[in-house]
Amino acid sequence: MQAIIQTLQDNLLILTIICGIFGLLLGSFLNVVIFRYPIMLFREWETMAKEILQDRGFKISAPAKVFDQQPEKFNLVVPRSACPNCERSISSFENIPVISYLLLKGRCKGCNSPISIRYPFIEIITAASFAMVAWHFGLWLAIIGRSTIDRLFYCHEHD
Ligand SMILES: [Zn+2]
Repeated sequence: MQAIIQTLQDNLLILTIICGIFGLLLGSFLNVVIFRYPIMLFREWETMAKEILQDRGFKISAPAKVFDQQPEKFNLVVPRSACPNCERSISSFENIPVISYLLLKGRCKGCNSPISIRYPFIEIITAASFAMVAWHFGLWLAIIGRSTIDRLFYCHEHD
């Protein structure tokens, strides 16, 4: 651990690249959150609204109008990502941030429909932000990380 921190402190470029890659992965996850979280929130709200109406004596006979085309079990992990046009599951190889978009030339492998530029855009913006923070605060970022770890262990030992 000490050696890794020392290497990162000594080599700003390595730290910047590692943080950039981490930013790419986080950007990829943000894309999932941006698409799925509003649907999850709407479903939660719909369920609560239904319960409140039933508590107040309203009869809800017909099932609520389906707001989205997603399966019943739907969260940040399940189901696997799929093309919104042909519903073909997206393989791990097609899910590499930015690289897959470039290799697929921005089109679905199954139906050739265009993939939104928003996905690689968000990945690049997140990666660039992480890389810039690492480049600018490099040493301090490592020191803050290190002292936080030290403090956590110190507190733990003396509890
Ligand atoms: Zn498709």
